[in-house]
Amino acid sequence: MREHHSSLECDPHPPLPNIDQVEYARPHWEGLQEEQLLIQECSDCGERQHFPRPWCQYCGSEAIEWIESDGTATLYSYSIPRRVVEVYEYEPALPYVMGYVDLDVGVRFVSNVVNCDVDDVEIGMELEAVFDHVTDDVTLVRFEPM
Ligand SMILES: [Zn+2]
Repeated sequence: MREHHSSLECDPHPPLPNIDQVEYARPHWEGLQEEQLLIQECSDCGERQHFPRPWCQYCGSEAIEWIESDGTATLYSYSIPRRVVEVYEYEPALPYVMGYVDLDVGVRFVSNVVNCDVDDVEIGMELEAVFDHVTDDVTLVRFEPM
C-alpha cells in the first residue's frame, strides 16, 4: 500500500540543513555529495563521533581526522511519525521512519529508513546508506534495508 511506504521524496521538501553554518562540518557535507559517508575520528584517543564537532567529545583534542564508513548499519531504534505538528512540510511524507542507526564504524546516526514498508521496520535490521541528492548543494544520507 503506497501510503505505508517510507519515503521522504515529497513536494514541498521538508526543511534542509544549512550546510554553510559551520565550517568544521564541511567535509561531511562535501563527502555526501560524492556519495562518501565521512565520520570524525580523533587522532589522539581513537574515538569516533557524529555529528561533526570542532573537537573530540571524549578527550577534547582538536586533532580530528575523517574516515569513510562503508554505509552498513544496524537499526538501534526508531519512531514512525503519523501526524505533524507545526512543520507541515513533512505532511506529504507521512508516515515515515525516524531511525537511530548504528553505523559499522561505531557511531549512532539519526536518519530515515526508506524504500521499505513502515510496517516491516524492526529493531536490529541490517541497513545500508543511500544518498539522496536533494538539491545541487545538499545531499542527505538515508538508510534502506539490505
Ligand atoms: Zn579524543
